[in-house]
Amino acid sequence: MTAQRVAIIGAGVSGLCALKCCLDEGLVPICFERSGDIGGLWRFEEHPEEGRASIYPSLIINASKELMCFSDFPIPEDFPNYMHNSKIMEYFRMYAQHFDLLRHIRFRTNVCRVTKHPDFAATGQWEVVAESEGKQEVDVFDAVLVCTGHHTEAHLPLSTFPGLEKFEGWYLHSRDYKGLQSFWGKRVVVVGTGNSGCDIAVELSQVAKQVFLSTRRGTWVLHRVADGGYPFDYIYLRRFLQLLYRLMPHIINFLISRKLNARFNHTLYGLQPQHMVFEQHPTVSDNLSNRIISGKVLVKPNIQEFTETSAIFDDGTREEIDAVVFATGYSFSFPFLEGYVKVVENQISLYKFMFPPDLEKPTLAFIGLIQPLGPIMPISELQCRWATRVFKGLLDLPPSANMLADIMQTKEEMAKRYVKSQRHTIQVDYIPYMDELACQVGVKPNLLALFLTDPKLALEVLFGPCTPYQYRLRGPGKWPGAREAILTQHQRVVKPLQTTAKGRPPHSSTTSHIFKFFSIGLIVATLAYVSLSP
Ligand code: FAD
Repeated sequence: MTAQRVAIIGAGVSGLCALKCCLDEGLVPICFERSGDIGGLWRFEEHPEEGRASIYPSLIINASKELMCFSDFPIPEDFPNYMHNSKIMEYFRMYAQHFDLLRHIRFRTNVCRVTKHPDFAATGQWEVVAESEGKQEVDVFDAVLVCTGHHTEAHLPLSTFPGLEKFEGWYLHSRDYKGLQSFWGKRVVVVGTGNSGCDIAVELSQVAKQVFLSTRRGTWVLHRVADGGYPFDYIYLRRFLQLLYRLMPHIINFLISRKLNARFNHTLYGLQPQHMVFEQHPTVSDNLSNRIISGKVLVKPNIQEFTETSAIFDDGTREEIDAVVFATGYSFSFPFLEGYVKVVENQISLYKFMFPPDLEKPTLAFIGLIQPLGPIMPISELQCRWATRVFKGLLDLPPSANMLADIMQTKEEMAKRYVKSQRHTIQVDYIPYMDELACQVGVKPNLLALFLTDPKLALEVLFGPCTPYQYRLRGPGKWPGAREAILTQHQRVVKPLQTTAKGRPPHSSTTSHIFKFFSIGLIVATLAYVSLSP
C-alpha cells in the first residue's frame, strides 16, 4: 500500500509540527506556504504581508519556554524564559533543521482552493489547487491539515465608532503597528486592553506626549514574572492547581483576583472588570501599572465618538488626539475551503476545535484554531498527533450526531463562562484540553502507575508545571528523553538567569514538591481531625 499524502497549508508553528507528526506516522506531507519562509506570525517583517499575520518588532511571547516548547524538543537551557520573537524564530529554525522539515515545504505557494475529489465518499481524498509564480496546479491528497492561523485578518469595527470618517488624525490596526517612530510627541488613543493593546500603549508611552488606553469593560492584568521571579505559567499551569480550580472555581477565581489586586488595585487603576479572572482571555503586561502610575498612560472608558481632532469618551470627557491604534483583535475565515466550513463572527463548528462533523470521511483537520489560557504550540502539536492517527485509520471519530452534540455543549459552556465577544469563540483551558487530546491519542500520563513505579517523576508531574514532555511519557510517540526533560526543567528555567559568578545553584524542585505534598497532607489531616473531634 502506498503511503498517504497529506497537504499541510501554512508553515507557521502549526505547519511545522504538522510536518513532523506526519513524518513520525509514516505519512507523506507536502506543506504549502504562501510566504518565502517558515515561522508564520513569529517572523517579523517591516511591512505586513498579505495573508500572513504581522507583529510589532518588540513582541515578546507571554508563554515561558518550558511551557511553549514542542514536547520532544526542549528549548536550549541558555535561551531566556520569555523569548523575543527573533529568539522564537531561532528555536523554530533549530526544530525544522533537526527534523529535516524544510525539504517538504513549497514556499511562495498559495493554496487557493480545496475541494472534495469526485470519489471523496469512498476515498476521502481532496483536490488542492495551489498557485506559485502565477501558475495554478491541482494535486490530489489523502488528507488536509489547515494550519493557516487565526491572527491574520484585522478586525476593525469602524462602524461602531461614529465620527471616525471626519477624524483628521491617522488611525491604524495593531496588525500594522511597526514601532513608535511616528508617535513622538503625539497624543494617542489605543483602543482595547488585550495583549497587543497593552503592549502598544506601554511602548508608545515612552515617546508620546500622552497615551489614552480605552477599555469597554476593563481587564485583569497578569504578569510574566510571578512569585519568586519564576514565569507565571511555570508556577500556575500545574495539575494540582487545575484540580483545585475544577473543585472550587469561584474560590480560585476569587483568590487569584485578590492576588492580582495586591499587585495593583484594578479599581484604583480604572481597569476593574465586572467579570472574574478566568471569564476573559487574560492580558499579560508587566509594565502597564508603572506607566499608569507615572501618568504616561491614562485609562479611559469606551469611545463614544470622534470629532475632527478629538475623541469623546462614554464618561463625557473629551481629549484632543493625533492618532488612534485599534487593538481590536482579529477575524478568521477559510476562503479556500468555501462550502465546507462556515464561519460567522468567528463562530465555527468543529469537533474538539479540529474536525468538521459532517464529512463522509475524517480527512480534514484544523490545527491551532484555538485560543488557550496557555501556549498554542504544544496544543497544535498534540492536535497533529491525533489528526494523523485519525487519517491513518488507527483512531475513529464518533458518529456525526455525537460530534454535533459535543460541539453544541462546548459552545454552551463557553457562552456561560466567558464575556460575550468575538474574541471568545475558540477558548480552551490548557491542561484540560491537552488531556482531552491526549486521551484520544492514548498519551495522557497515568499518575497512579507513575506513583507506583516512579514516585519522583510522579511528584513532578502532579505538582510541577504541566510541561509538554508529560505527553511523551507513554503511548504512541513516546520519547525516551521525556523523563529526563521533566526532571531537568527547573535547571533550564534557572540557567539563563545565572549570568553572574555569584548566581546561586538552583534548589531541586522535587524537594519543594515533597514539601508541598506533606504540607497538603498535614492540612487535610488537620481538617479531618478537627471535623471528627467531638
Ligand atoms: P501562523 O503563525 O499565523 O502561521 C500561518 C501560516 O500559514 C503563515 O505562514 C501564512 O503565510 C500561511 N498561510 C496562510 N494562508 C495560506 C494559504 N492559503 N496558502 C499557503 N499558506 C498560507 N500565542 C501563544 O501561544 N503565546 C503568545 O504569547 C502569543 N502572542 C501573540 C501575540 C500577538 C500580537 C498575536 C497576534 C498572536 C499571538 N499568539 C500567541 C498567537 C499566535 O497566533 C500563535 O502563537 C502562533 O503563531 C500560531 O501559529 P500558526 O502556525 O497556527 O499560525
